[in-house]
Amino acid sequence: MAELLGSISYPPSLDESSTLTTTLRDWALSHGLVIRAPIKEEDADERATHVPLTLFPSPFPKKLFEEARGLQTAFNELYVNVANDSEFLNEITKGLAGVDDFMSDLWKLHLEVEKETGGKPTQPLTLGVFRSDYLLHTSPSSEPEIRQVELNTISASFGGLSSLAADAHRFLLKADEYPTSQLEMSNETMPENPSAKGLAAGLATAHNAYGVPSAVVLFVIQPGERNAFDQRWLEYYLLETHGVRVLRASMQEIAADGKLDATTKKFSIYGKEISVVYYRSAYTPADYPTPETWQARKQMELSTAIKCPSLATQFAGAKKVQQVLVDSKVLEKFCPDTAVRARIAATFAEILPLDADSALGKRARELIATKPEKYVLKPQREGGGNNVYREKIPGFLKSLPDESFWNGYILMELIEPPTDVKNSIIRNGKVTTGNVISELGVFGTALWNTVSGEILDNSEAGWLLRTKFAESEEGGVAAGFGSIDSVLLI
Ligand code: ADP
Ligand code: MG
Repeated sequence: MAELLGSISYPPSLDESSTLTTTLRDWALSHGLVIRAPIKEEDADERATHVPLTLFPSPFPKKLFEEARGLQTAFNELYVNVANDSEFLNEITKGLAGVDDFMSDLWKLHLEVEKETGGKPTQPLTLGVFRSDYLLHTSPSSEPEIRQVELNTISASFGGLSSLAADAHRFLLKADEYPTSQLEMSNETMPENPSAKGLAAGLATAHNAYGVPSAVVLFVIQPGERNAFDQRWLEYYLLETHGVRVLRASMQEIAADGKLDATTKKFSIYGKEISVVYYRSAYTPADYPTPETWQARKQMELSTAIKCPSLATQFAGAKKVQQVLVDSKVLEKFCPDTAVRARIAATFAEILPLDADSALGKRARELIATKPEKYVLKPQREGGGNNVYREKIPGFLKSLPDESFWNGYILMELIEPPTDVKNSIIRNGKVTTGNVISELGVFGTALWNTVSGEILDNSEAGWLLRTKFAESEEGGVAAGFGSIDSVLLI
């Protein structure tokens, strides 16, 4: 554990007469920095509330921020290469067979599609919208470093609202709502965040590559999505900046109304041809409530629509893949450039498998027995709330039906963020102040040809800073743990 700010006091305190909180809340409501409020039975209509926000931007070392952004195109390329290696992913799935039905089923679907298309994909182009997440790691003996928490390859969210959070804080600065601060607060230290435009541009590039201007981008959404406005911002930029239209439908709606043309293999819904299928759903078992929804996924996969992501790309984001990439030989295979590889590897924390046979698996078992307080256990799931922390790990593993199920998990060293950063979070209009932990996510978009391996677009696309109170293990904003923040570069 170590400090980031030392003797500097931040954020400055607000006096009684400060209007900052009201100004921020109203700015958020008037600019669509909002989330749908939980629907109560007595509500006749829908309501939105400001998304949980920090009052101040949180400090982040400029050098590390630039390193994280600078690495994004390299991470994009790494994951493109992983997603393109069906054999490698197939090997990984073998270890999950019988212990993680959802991941096994997703992979089975990928194999069925490969078989039906004779290995020649109907649509060779694939789009990735990635987000690589980092925490600052501190130790008393060295400077802070960035450590990767995970890399998301499906439904990486908050690109829409994240731009607005930076705008909101920049507005407060301009409006003179921030008291004098020991850290420089300026347009330079509080940069604009291009994430909403960047993600829309990535989707538009794929749409244009599809080559049918009248086609539409399909946003696959979860029914009752509270975070719909984050997605809407991408839709608005797609239409207003790129002239690209969007349709939204859930997996159930697609199962009922989506059509794969038997001859042309075009995918359509409600009479509209689909250029790009952008998944903001389909990453968790609950997104497949019926066999028909699995069929719908397969039909989209078999179609000429460009998938974001394809099944293989989704799979490349599995925690198991992240664990295997920590092995320098595996990393070398997918990232041949020595200098880039060293920078990527420098962001990796220790991640171990939990099998009974390998040396690493044995080490993991020993660590769980001797110092579980340094580790987090993760299943192959996305969306928050699935991890098991510290001393709970041994008991949790014992509760599994038998040891073969341990293979479905990875053991990750806990990253140790600075302990001296404070901020205030406004949630549902109520302000709470305390020690906070910020997680930086860097967005990236990549469009590539899975047959030739050629990458047609590889871009960094802005960032997300999520901030949670230090006592909370997880930081999901929609899940109710965290808030949206912006960076104050120090
Ligand atoms: P998910 O796919 O559910 O988002 P993550 O791997 O991102 O899973 O973990 C969820 C949260 O748990 C992270 O946002 C972070 O706050 C915390 N977390 C995960 N891994 C670590 C770690 N190695 N050290 C410290 N915190 C972690
Ligand atoms: Mg995460």
